[in-house]
Formats: sequence, structure tokens, C-alpha cells
Amino acid sequence: MRQTLVALVAVLSCLFVVGPPGSADNSEASRAALRVHLPDGTVAVLTEGQNLFLEASPRRGEGLLSFNRRFCSTEDAATQVAAENGGSERLKAGIRYRVPFAVLNSDYQVQVVRALFEDDRAVAEGWQHRVHSANGQSRESLWHLAEWFTGQGENYGAIRKNNRLTDDDLTPGQVILIPANLLRPSLRSALPPGSPYHLEYGADQKGEFAIYRLKPGEALYSSVVVRFTGRVFAEDVNALAQEVAAGSGIPDVTDIAIGYEVRIPFKLLLPEYLPAGHPERQAYEQGLMASAQFSNVVRASRLSGVTVVLDAGHGGKDVGASVSGVWESLYVYDIMVRAMRILETNTAATVIATTQDGSAHSVIERDQLPYSKSHRVLSTPNYQIEDSRIGVHLRWYLANSIYRQAVEQGGDPDKVVFVSIHADSLHSSLRGAMVYIPGARYRTGTYGKSGAVYASRREVKERPQVSYSNRERVKSEGLSRELAANILGAFHERSLAVHPDKPVREKVIRKRRAWVPAVLRYNAIPAEVLLEVCNLANSQDRRLMQTMAYRQQVAAAIVSGILSYYGQAEGDGEYRVSAASR
Ligand SMILES: [Zn+2]
Repeated sequence: MRQTLVALVAVLSCLFVVGPPGSADNSEASRAALRVHLPDGTVAVLTEGQNLFLEASPRRGEGLLSFNRRFCSTEDAATQVAAENGGSERLKAGIRYRVPFAVLNSDYQVQVVRALFEDDRAVAEGWQHRVHSANGQSRESLWHLAEWFTGQGENYGAIRKNNRLTDDDLTPGQVILIPANLLRPSLRSALPPGSPYHLEYGADQKGEFAIYRLKPGEALYSSVVVRFTGRVFAEDVNALAQEVAAGSGIPDVTDIAIGYEVRIPFKLLLPEYLPAGHPERQAYEQGLMASAQFSNVVRASRLSGVTVVLDAGHGGKDVGASVSGVWESLYVYDIMVRAMRILETNTAATVIATTQDGSAHSVIERDQLPYSKSHRVLSTPNYQIEDSRIGVHLRWYLANSIYRQAVEQGGDPDKVVFVSIHADSLHSSLRGAMVYIPGARYRTGTYGKSGAVYASRREVKERPQVSYSNRERVKSEGLSRELAANILGAFHERSLAVHPDKPVREKVIRKRRAWVPAVLRYNAIPAEVLLEVCNLANSQDRRLMQTMAYRQQVAAAIVSGILSYYGQAEGDGEYRVSAASR
């Protein structure tokens, strides 16, 4: 059922009728600036509004679904989709239909980009794009490049940083590198053998696998296991490194020859690294596509009318990650309080914290923070955190109560955001921030807690059980992904470290299980993220965390990310303007 709905969304969004030749939509933004014929008779189009499309005519007698199947990756669900549609709709021969770039299958995405940007090159480090010229000027912006090549305009900051650009303006002929780790899966798959993302595929009697050839300086755990399997917790990374080594005939993981053929079984691969067209990769891409339909259109000057719910992870007796005497609970609480202070001073947002330590939310102006176990969840009555799980569940009940009140008072449901602040304890080789968002498929069912500790709380009594419709879950994934990208964009702007591989994750993967953290999973606020600001098991991150300067920077990045999510720039707003009008 889920697949059917997702596929249906994709089908309905897939087609724009261009009209019979000669009567094409001539609004300025959609007028073609460049049209290039592909060998199969379709046409790659770049519009004056800088949108990419494939134009194609149906084959004789071809139905909507079959047409859609040729160009988009929804083949799996075609029969169900047909049933949902009451049979296929009749397409008209001789009419060109425009298929937006984002919903094209991997093969056509690569073809369209190669056709329109013939000077572009796939290199080991990523995608080299040569800025186009129209009458000696460039209409391209970093935002466009980020959208085309990474699927997320918010990545423009990372691209600017990577190319060491001091100026936001692009000039015709300029070559911009889109780093491999940011690329869309389709373009990443097109990178040459020297690339750290280049995979080949094979099979033996034990099953199918991907082949990766180690490059100089690469280690099995960071360059294979973390990158291609998405595992980040030390015990998982080490266990999978052993498993991959055994399956590849490697006797010693610390001594592997350069170019050695490392085999990663399909069952361990992240879906985006499976071969294009593999059902699991298609399902993953469909999920991305479906959630990408939802984008925040609400703009709020200085966050006026916006409610920001800030949540510091853990607290009280639940200290969270604890490495060399550094407790996650203390440091993320300090970041939350700093973010509150910035929001209250510099914006018009209503700021609500889920926890408190002591009589007020006060910033401690010290690098190393004093120990405390007296944080409480601000439910009614408050909950002095004894049990970590109760502490988590009461937070989402509290968040849901805040959300209901905001919406019942006539507020805009899209003017509430939830940011939970944590710090990881991962494999020590990893550094920087990553963000968990609520993957739609991990939030089915109905959930609620019983027992005296819950029954006595006002927020639980208001609505003891929660469940979310498919539309709500898909929308929440889309908005949360956008909020995450804005926050990480602000991290990049401040040169704060961000995970190189998959910094935004739809789920936690640990011990062969996958799930969405409870504070997001049962949370009713559509735009919601769990931000892991850094990895406390990494000594560099741990040292930084114990400085006020770093925590203040992180707090500022969180606020900046929320501002840009609502179309607000702190400083120069050029790209935010294009973000707002995209
Ligand atoms: Zn945590």
C-alpha cells in the first residue's frame, strides 16, 4: 500500500503537458533556453527559469503508466498504480510531455545532464560543471547547481566552500566542482573508477555483491563500511569490517593492498549504492521523490509567528554519551540554552524548551561545564529525569501538546519546528554533525504509553495515542529533510565539521536494526530533526565541545538554519532570495 501511494504521487507529479508542437507553454520561466536531442528521440531541456526537463512523446498506443515507466523509476508499482487510477489515462500521440529532472530515472538524469552541459566532466572527485553562457552572461547560480547536481538547493553553501569561492556570482566558463559526496545517486554512480564512490557489481554462489577497490590511504572501516553500509557505531563498523574482510578473502584488515577487490554483499549496502534499477534502490529513490514534493513555502520575517521547540537530549540521571568524563547531557543542554538566547534576542520567534536545569535557562560562561543531574522535562507536572525512556516519551508528548496549542490558536502548522540536540558516540574515525529525520516508512502504526507516570501528565491525558497518515509521514520527511539541509548548510558556512557521508539520515542503523528515534517518530510537529552536533568519541570533536566558542557557533548555526528554512538570511541574502523564489 505504501509503495502504491508513493508511486502514485510520483506518477501524478511526473508529467507536464507541453502541448502540441508550436503551442508550447511560453511563459518566460518555462521557455526553453537550450534543447538538445537525445539519440532515442527525446529532448533534454534547460528552461530560462533554469529548470531541467526531459521532453518526450508517447509511443503509438502507449498508456500513461508505460510512458511513466520508461522515464521514471516506478516500474514496481505500475499495476497497482493502474488499479488506483481506474486504468491508464490515454496519452495523445504527437504531444510532447515534460518530465521534471528530479523524477527521471538514474539513466535519464545522467543523459540529460550530459546532453545539456557538454563541457561537464565526471572526475574522481565529483562532477565538474562549466558555467553556461547566455549572451555572455550566466543565469546560473550556486543554488541552481546545488539543485541540479545534488537534489537540494541548500547544498549551495557546501559547494561554495568546497570551491573556495569568495564571490557568489558565477561567470561563464567558470568550472565548479560538485563534490562526490553531495551528488545525486544517479550522477555519483557515473563517476569514473578513480572515485571513492565508484562501485562495480558481481555475484558468486553466496550472492550478489558490490566491488570497491581501495585507494591509497583508505581504510576498510571508514572507506568501505561507513561509506557504503551506513554503519557508524563502533561495534557495528568493526563487526562489518570483519565480515566484509572474510567475504573478500582479506586475512588482515590493517594490511590490504591498494586496489584490492573488496566485496560488499548487497544485503549490507545502503540502498543508494545498489545498482540502478534494483528494487530496493528504486523504493529508496521513490521515497526521496515523494517526500521532495513537500517543501516549506512559509516565509516568516524574523521568525514572526514561528514556534521553535528546542530539545536538549538526555539530562538528569540519563547523561547520554559519556566519554572521558564528558557527558552529552551537559553540553547539549548548554547549546540549547545558547540557541534559546540567540532566538529570544535576535528573532520574534516563540521559543519553548522541553527541559530545564535549575530555576532558569541560564548560560554558563565556562568551557568545561559543571556536572549536574537535575534536568527535568517541562511536562505538567515536570518530570525529574530518572528513566531515560520516560524522559524521551514525555518530550514528544510535550512537543505534541505545544503543536496542538499553536495550531488550535489559529496558527499555521508549518510555523512550528522541532530541533532535538544531541552529540554522538560513534566510531572514533568519524567527525562532525549529522541529522536524523523521520523516514516515512518507519512511522507506521499507533503508539501510546500507559502507566502512572504517563497517566498523571496533562500532555498525555490530552492525547494518549498517536498515529500518522501516509501523507503526514511523507510530508514530515520532506520538510524535515529541508530543515536538516538548512541547518547543515549553516554548519558549512561556519566551517563546523559535517559528516562527509550521508549527513542526513532517515533512520538510525544499529545492530542490524533500523528505526527512527522515538522523539521524532511519535512527534506531531512536521518539521522535526534530531541533530547530532559532533562525535564525542572523536578526540578533536570532544575537545571542541568543551569550549564555549564552539558551542556558541553551533547554537548560532542552528538558529541560522531555522532562519534560512523560513527564507530569512542573516547576512547577504542573495541565495536565500533565489531559495524563496525557486
Ligand atoms: Zn543523545
